[in-house]
Amino acid sequence: MGIVDEDIARVRESTDLVAVVSGYTQLKRVGQRWSGLCPFHNEKSASFSVNQAEGLYHCFGCKASGDAITFVREIEHLDFPGAVEWLAAKAGITLRYTERDESEGRKRQNRLFSLTEQACEWYHQRLRTGADAAAARSYLRSRGFDADEVARYRIGWAPDDWDQLVRTLKASHDDLEAAGLGFLNRRNRLQDFFRGRILFPILDERDRVIGFGGRKLPDADGPKYQNSRDNVLYNKSKALYAINWAKADAVASDQIVVCEGYTDVIGFSRAGIPRAVATCGTALTEDHVRILKRFTRNIVLAYDADEAGQSAAERVYAWEAAHDLRFSVLELPAGSDPDDLARTDPDALRSAVEHPRPFLEFRVTRVLGAADLSGPEGRARAAESALEVIAEHPDPLVRDQYVMELADTCRIDATQLRVRLEDVRRNPRPPEPERRRRGPDRDQDRGDDPGSRPAPPRRPPLGDGVEREVLRLAVNQPELAAPFLEDSFFRHPTARAALDQLRRNDTLAQAVEDAPPEVADLLTELAVEESTSEPGDVLARFASEVGRRELAELESEARASPDPLAYSDVVAWLKVTLDHLRHPRAEVETVTQLLAFLRDRHQHARG
Ligand code: ZN
Repeated sequence: MGIVDEDIARVRESTDLVAVVSGYTQLKRVGQRWSGLCPFHNEKSASFSVNQAEGLYHCFGCKASGDAITFVREIEHLDFPGAVEWLAAKAGITLRYTERDESEGRKRQNRLFSLTEQACEWYHQRLRTGADAAAARSYLRSRGFDADEVARYRIGWAPDDWDQLVRTLKASHDDLEAAGLGFLNRRNRLQDFFRGRILFPILDERDRVIGFGGRKLPDADGPKYQNSRDNVLYNKSKALYAINWAKADAVASDQIVVCEGYTDVIGFSRAGIPRAVATCGTALTEDHVRILKRFTRNIVLAYDADEAGQSAAERVYAWEAAHDLRFSVLELPAGSDPDDLARTDPDALRSAVEHPRPFLEFRVTRVLGAADLSGPEGRARAAESALEVIAEHPDPLVRDQYVMELADTCRIDATQLRVRLEDVRRNPRPPEPERRRRGPDRDQDRGDDPGSRPAPPRRPPLGDGVEREVLRLAVNQPELAAPFLEDSFFRHPTARAALDQLRRNDTLAQAVEDAPPEVADLLTELAVEESTSEPGDVLARFASEVGRRELAELESEARASPDPLAYSDVVAWLKVTLDHLRHPRAEVETVTQLLAFLRDRHQHARG
């Protein structure tokens, strides 16, 4: 993962930003700078400008800015190391990695990717021409797949045999196992991992085959779906089926659809919505969310978000806040799934995708839809259930909007509802165990994810975000956290109150003793909680969270300023710095620099 810093610097030095950008838009020299139409947004007059000597760019239209690495990341949708590798390849630089064996690791990874690619092609040809694949072909035809779709999605057939693939690939046992293509049976013979299944290859956003989802034929034995197991290339909590095909349209339309089945993804595409991805036998994870947000901030959930339960709602709100995302839910006619609807009524599917419901609205509508609103008791019960759902939302202004609507619908005075809502928020109902998802194509997790996860414990309103983790450090390792404890770095009022309390007392015991109950509880919890995070990581994450807010602030200052150019260097610097922090082993020095910058900005703003 870690590219040697020196090599990153070398890549930067050897890269001519003008040459890189020229691959995407035509630049003309204007004085000291180069200018052209912005490749990141549609425009008729040039507002994109490149400083060749400094290797920085800035767009006065959409505010895109950064250096060559940022440029490649954004235009090619790569992560930081991916962008460095992309540029290094152009510049003919061989990269070294921070762990001694890491370039070995890279070599192996490339070898494994070459195996999965060969396997994908072999399975695909097998489906197209194999005599034993006739049943698979006719099943796919019956589900509406034509030859173009089979080719586009590289769908394959794993023959119902022992070791045809692994014998064909002629690679080491180790590699075949590591790539998830084979396994050693009890007699120590290598066997094909997939057998007698239609295979949907899963590619990463760089078009590399990381694994497969295998569907059995309708009358075969075994679980309906079997996915690759986690291995060197495949991690199910990061894998998103079809991200490689969906990303371009997700960027263009500023929206991405997340569903649960391979065939749903293809159904969306058939209906003219080529921006759907599927999780592969798990619920949506934070890792998935991090990948999705590289392409858009608007995430539409195309599965039953209500059945996923209360803990799903908590996660969604936490992600919305932490990653500045908007989640909404696709509303489909009862009993239909995207794949069916794509066939029977593609217009309805398109219209549902164009007008998804905000997450909370969807849940409230669902509760009220199931209630009997014809009599007073029914309306009171409905209001009670709706308040429980509304109470989960972290934003008081949003909650109040819903309270007012609820007051109308249930004919109850809004003031009463507000009082009741505060009760519910103080004493939330314990989360229900997650119910299993059901339906014809929704049981993919039976293969490799048995049972449901335990619901996470209820958290106090501060949540378990990075602010809380920094506070925990402030309590347990104050000397480490001290430079980060600027009041204005914290957004949550309880967090600020806790900080204040710590500052005004010499010992934790004293601080707890004279704190208001909510703060006292928090401080006590923090003092006893085990942290699984590295302090350095926590502080780096915190600095970049504050930094991201500061970036937004700076950009809006620049917009309002008569001289926006004056901001472009600091904006570019901040973007580059934030990019570095996304790198898993961010340098302490980068964090220190960012921290110094933030403290300075905040003290000026407030002093
Ligand atoms: Zn632009």
